[in-house]
Amino acid sequence: MSDDAPAYGFDTLQIHAGARPDPATGARQTPIYQNTAYVFRDADHAAALFNLQEVGFIYSRLTNPTVSVLQERLAALEGGVGATCASSGHAAQILALFPLMGPGDNVVVSTRLYGGTITQFSHTIKRFGWEAKFVDFDKPGQVARAVNKRTKAIFCESIANPGGYVTDLPRIAAVAERKGVPLIVDNTVATPYLCRPFEHGAHIVVHSTTKYLSGNGTAMGGAVIDSGKFDWSASDKFPSLSAPEPAYHGLKFHETFGPLAYTLHGHAVGLRDLGMTMAPMNAFLTLLGIETLSLRMERHVANARRVAEWLEQDPRVESVTYAGLKSSPHYRRARKLCPKGAGALFAFALKGGYDACVKLVDALQIFSHVANLGDTRSLVIHSASTTHRQLTPEQQEAAGAAPNVVRLSIGLEDPEDLIRDLDQALTKATS
Ligand SMILES: *Cc1c(COP(=O)(O)O)cnc(C)c1O
Repeated sequence: MSDDAPAYGFDTLQIHAGARPDPATGARQTPIYQNTAYVFRDADHAAALFNLQEVGFIYSRLTNPTVSVLQERLAALEGGVGATCASSGHAAQILALFPLMGPGDNVVVSTRLYGGTITQFSHTIKRFGWEAKFVDFDKPGQVARAVNKRTKAIFCESIANPGGYVTDLPRIAAVAERKGVPLIVDNTVATPYLCRPFEHGAHIVVHSTTKYLSGNGTAMGGAVIDSGKFDWSASDKFPSLSAPEPAYHGLKFHETFGPLAYTLHGHAVGLRDLGMTMAPMNAFLTLLGIETLSLRMERHVANARRVAEWLEQDPRVESVTYAGLKSSPHYRRARKLCPKGAGALFAFALKGGYDACVKLVDALQIFSHVANLGDTRSLVIHSASTTHRQLTPEQQEAAGAAPNVVRLSIGLEDPEDLIRDLDQALTKATS
């Protein structure tokens, strides 16, 4: 598509945004540029590229044509100005915080997060001198009180993994706005088809593209997408973006690049020096997945609703935590923020407790027992004994991963088959 294209709809953008027939061969599908380096036209061209005076390809740790198509596509689908892809969702989270944080700084984060993110934030980032302050995001007053002079961002998930919880993004965004810090939203579980955090006040979106975006359980990846709306120069909180950058002869990113400052910093400093680059093959696989994102998400959501409604009326089940059910305390919020559906990831509690959960997982036949979500295949996991095992009982409870809770990621199979499989496994687990 040309740059002056009209505002296309989501289904058109998920197929075309960022891509054009290959200029060298006319190849219609985006080729996999499986190369590391690019020939400079001459010495002046090389110098201009290294000075960031001209945009172009230098070395695939920084930019690669296949990965660039994915970046443009994700920016278009989220309604942002630019994106930086990374080797995984966890890498994207570090890459997102990197331009903002220094030793002694903190980020205020929701207690309801992917288990691996809770571990990354509560332990690993301390090695950089960064701190995460965990707060219940249903209490915006507490979020505001947790923000102090050294807070550089607020972080949450739109639909939170694993509990079928939806964050009240407009209220949290209002806190971020008042405090002068960006709101970063992990939109992995919702995808931009179900929720567009920038429309609700978020400034930055991160993704694990490993999940619904690639969609088939084939490619690890992550992305950081910038709305371009945060004013990095409004305070002296963000010197990496507003003050002279010593590694580029005193260049000021925000002054020079305006709304693209954060994205260009992600490539020119983040990927250059941290090196968590997405592989071109993985970008290609993820682009293939995104071509059918809306179709898959509609079916994921429809199947999830069928299965959740069936589980909710089953006497062996204690409760179902899915924001797509009318009984959920988050139902109305989900209707507002995710009008096309509350995702396909939810948890349910079994009357038989921990032991019954373990038996259920072993008895299921169509559902695969894996530490993943967002696959075409239906997946199951007992979070307390696996992904959330490293957490304290209080953290498990707060994250929606109590010992009697099983998490399902509903795939694209026939919903009748999924229900029959759950029925037979529930019988074995509770007899
Ligand atoms: C999987 C996941 C991550 C981590 O992504 P990886 O690609 O596995 O590194 C982060 N956030 C959420 C919500 C996830 O589901």
